[in-house]
Amino acid sequence: MGHYCRICGCHKPNEKFSGKGHKNHICKACAKLPKEEIQAEENMNEIFNFLQQSNISKGNITRLHTLAKSSNEEVATHAQIVLEIAKIKPHKKRRLKFLARKNRELLNKLDETGLIMAHHY
Ligand SMILES: [Zn+2]
Repeated sequence: MGHYCRICGCHKPNEKFSGKGHKNHICKACAKLPKEEIQAEENMNEIFNFLQQSNISKGNITRLHTLAKSSNEEVATHAQIVLEIAKIKPHKKRRLKFLARKNRELLNKLDETGLIMAHHY
């Protein structure tokens, strides 16, 4: 039965994880990546999860502000988009419909970045 790697998102057999990797849910292959890359991947997961929540909380928004200042451009851009959404429609319910009517531009950004997938689960 193996383990789930939270970086590459794969299920892999036990032997693909080191002792420490087990606990951190990072497979051996991903553990070899540069720290910044692992960090960026984790941040991206975090941002994606915020959109999947039924509501983006104040605490989440504080966190998004920090992420929006990330030295990783991809992380910063994505955090900025979710931040804009959190400001106008923190609740997930009917968010896409709301954006379609009120802020087409933001909806397009969600689409282009793939963040829109967070709403399809
Ligand atoms: Zn992995």
